[in-house]
Amino acid sequence: MIIGSGCAGLTAAIYAARANLAPLVITGTLPGGLLTTTTVVENFPGFPEGVTGSELMERMQEQAKRFGARIKYAVVQRVDFTGSPFKVWTDVDEIHARAVIIATGASHRKLGLESEKLLEGRGVSYCATCDGALPVFRNQPLVVVGGGDSACEEALYLTRFASQIYLVHRRETLRASKIMAQRVLNNPKIQPLWNSVIVDILDVNLGRVTGVKVKNLVNNTEQMIEAAGVFVAIGHVPNTEIFRGQLAMDEAGYILRVEGSRTSVPGVFVAGDCTDKVYRQAITAAAMGCAAAIDAERYLGSLK
Ligand code: NAP
Repeated sequence: MIIGSGCAGLTAAIYAARANLAPLVITGTLPGGLLTTTTVVENFPGFPEGVTGSELMERMQEQAKRFGARIKYAVVQRVDFTGSPFKVWTDVDEIHARAVIIATGASHRKLGLESEKLLEGRGVSYCATCDGALPVFRNQPLVVVGGGDSACEEALYLTRFASQIYLVHRRETLRASKIMAQRVLNNPKIQPLWNSVIVDILDVNLGRVTGVKVKNLVNNTEQMIEAAGVFVAIGHVPNTEIFRGQLAMDEAGYILRVEGSRTSVPGVFVAGDCTDKVYRQAITAAAMGCAAAIDAERYLGSLK
């Protein structure tokens, strides 16, 4: 069984299916994973013109199905890895498996503000590709938070719709790759606000975003910025809560790899962003999925 249907999960499915293991892929809440929410993927080898995240993932799924992978649109809610076969409960049924590959990926990290929670879906978003084109954001000033590749990508994408974009970053240099950082800094629609954090999002009483209160960390001053939307792109947290107590993890919740893709439980393997806090690329997730499938195949072979 493969839990997760992003790059790691579907690559594991391609390899496991080609090994005649007929893997069952549980998609999770977002079939295709987080990559389906990005725009063009420009760094996946083999696509010199780029490919949209959704197309790449649809093609991976087709490839896995072609060799016999079974795709189940369900969400895993609980697991029991204490004995064999492993038990997995989804929102619809209970499934047993002799080997499990975990490829549950990661979710968007939140700022942690009360107003952020109350205004999510009312102007606060974690996905410019999903929400950027909404009428409420058109020709309006927008705020993007973060300094990594995700924040740069969100800001650049939103330049199509917004009148102006404020990029709020807590330091004064971007963490993003050079090419993305350069595109952002050269774009006249994007104004970086360095050494700054959002301390509040308004207006909870109106039930929609009208602006943000930004604090400068150097001189401790606060300013109000008018904006119709806030796009938070400050990294990710691993989707591993359901495995807590069953598998060894680090303090941030990333599943630990004992050797190769093996976890602390023999027969349970892991791949992709739920175990990788260093590289976190589509291609590295795919490579880890491949490795996990090979390890799982060998493990199953050794049981016979
Ligand atoms: P990231 O590289 O971890 O960047 C997160 C950013 O958010 C950092 O600038 C960080 O600030 C900031 N941040 C973190 N917590 C914060 C908080 N509580 N409040 C305010 N700011 C906070 O995450 P990412 O941009 O999502 O990228 C993740 C991985 O995916 C990276 O390896 C990236 O290269 C890759 N990626 C690639 C592409 C592409 O190639 N097109 C697109 C998207 C993502 P500091 O800099 O101060 O730590």
